[in-house]
Amino acid sequence: MQCKCGDVAFTKELERKKLKAELRFYECRSCQRISNAVLTILGTEVATDLGGSTHARIAFESLTAESAAELLAPFNSVQNEAGQLGLGL
Ligand SMILES: [Zn+2]
Repeated sequence: MQCKCGDVAFTKELERKKLKAELRFYECRSCQRISNAVLTILGTEVATDLGGSTHARIAFESLTAESAAELLAPFNSVQNEAGQLGLGL
């Protein structure tokens, strides 16, 4: 990816292994400008920085087992519903 300054921005990944969480973003090698970040927990994208917000970054930096479960909850409920539908058949 090309940075606004014209140099190349490389993918960076921060990891919190205990919580199976990853924060991915681009960082420019010249000016250190960073792109919007995407937060992934257990392989599911749960938060993205958008329009200058640092939602995903803040969620990653303050991540606990509790907040990780909260972020995953909407995705788990989809899975649970699917499971319930399967059982109901
Ligand atoms: Zn740059």
